[in-house]
Amino acid sequence: MPRTLDPELRRALAARIRYYNEMGIYDFYRRPSSEHAGEVAGSIAVDEQEANILEHILQPGEEMSPRKATAVARPIAVDENMFGAIALKPEQSVSDPVKALKIIREDLGDCTRCVLHKQGRKQIVFGVGNPKAELMFVGEGPGADEDAQGEPFVGRAGQLLNNMIKAMGLQREDVYIANVVKCRPPGNRTPEPDECDTCSPFLMRQIAAIKPKVVVALGATAAKNLLAMNSSLGELRGRFYDFKPAGVRSSDSSWPGARLAVTYHPAYLLRDPRQKGETWKDLQMVMKYLGIEPPKKAAE
Ligand code: SF4
Repeated sequence: MPRTLDPELRRALAARIRYYNEMGIYDFYRRPSSEHAGEVAGSIAVDEQEANILEHILQPGEEMSPRKATAVARPIAVDENMFGAIALKPEQSVSDPVKALKIIREDLGDCTRCVLHKQGRKQIVFGVGNPKAELMFVGEGPGADEDAQGEPFVGRAGQLLNNMIKAMGLQREDVYIANVVKCRPPGNRTPEPDECDTCSPFLMRQIAAIKPKVVVALGATAAKNLLAMNSSLGELRGRFYDFKPAGVRSSDSSWPGARLAVTYHPAYLLRDPRQKGETWKDLQMVMKYLGIEPPKKAAE
């Protein structure tokens, strides 16, 4: 399989997948060489070239297609090996999210998959919180405090996130918190796209194991990587997106997927507190969906 694709072709196919997703179609199968016989309702046939590109797009470490998370759940017709990159992951054979997260962590191991492993990280920051959380927060990557303690959002931004969670009437232990990349980028720089693409499949597997009702993307890096959309944070905020990580079958009745909301990163709010009101609006949208009544003090 070629490792380099024509960017135009890739973009065109990605746009097509997004279009189908918007129509509620998530399953694709390779078109039989002779005609349309055997097409499956609710799915889309793709030709040989497109199938190969899809296969390529879904390789971990490659650029994520728009709504890659939901773009191709699993081939539902013909060759089971056709989309090898989305074969069932080992944790998908267990129903207990605690065990599933353990399997994912073991699979991650002492990861050296991207350059961040040799750029001064002290440890991998996997994620923390309730493995059965209804609400999950996803940030960008660990900072110095997180790198030192091995836990996401423990520095000043973490304290602000804790306050945001409390304002919602929840405790930090009620939610699950993770990042797009699990190793600290040097100097707290924004992680590079290839680093995000290499690491984020593990985040996707965590989300699929936890099966939250809502995922909140904190900041542009998290939003763009989860949604694979290149819009500004301002454009992405203020609405829910349907979200289902790659590898989760669209026919999986145990989890319909999550709703995804986008808001400001707490570190940004520390620099520009004027956006706290807008952030609170985003969180209120989440609370309404989850049926959470805010504590009286927070609602004032
Ligand atoms: S950031 Fe992720 S992919 Fe890169 S080395 Fe760390 S754990 Fe591995």
